[in-house]
Amino acid sequence: MGSLDEVHLCVEIENGMKLGFEEEPETIAIQDAVKVLLQGLGEDVNREGLVKTPLRVAKALRGGTRGYEQKVKDVVEGALFPEVGLHDGVGHAGGVGGLVIVRDLDLFSYCESCLLPLQLKCHVGYVPSGQRVVGLSKLSRVADVFAKRLQDPQRLADEICSSLHHGIKPAGLP
Ligand SMILES: [Zn+2]
Repeated sequence: MGSLDEVHLCVEIENGMKLGFEEEPETIAIQDAVKVLLQGLGEDVNREGLVKTPLRVAKALRGGTRGYEQKVKDVVEGALFPEVGLHDGVGHAGGVGGLVIVRDLDLFSYCESCLLPLQLKCHVGYVPSGQRVVGLSKLSRVADVFAKRLQDPQRLADEICSSLHHGIKPAGLP
């Protein structure tokens, strides 16, 4: 999973030493919980195929929920730039000044009600205001910050929508 590369693998602790990902308390807590889960399934946690499972699950879950450590503000800030175009107004159809839309974003998340992985298609659209537009790649990054948390599809849509409202103050969001 390439996305795991983006996870902060180290945390600073008070004396300046770094804890490895595997020693972080969050990782250890998840691993302990996964061992209990496997025991609940009647499995032998020490059998060869399962020895590294708790660590792998911890890596996958922490990577898949890294949105808890990210702020949309940091993603959007500095990403606003003046709209290029002939029209001063907003809402003109056809290119600049109209609806900005990004289709078919593939999002991967975890279902908050059963913890199983969720795959979602997302379309984000907005009508720029004040001649300010946000880079299209930022829209997908904003969506990803919220996807990388335990989610429910409707809440995910609401959160993306309201964060864009606050972040870029559009003239309209569908
Ligand atoms: Zn579910």
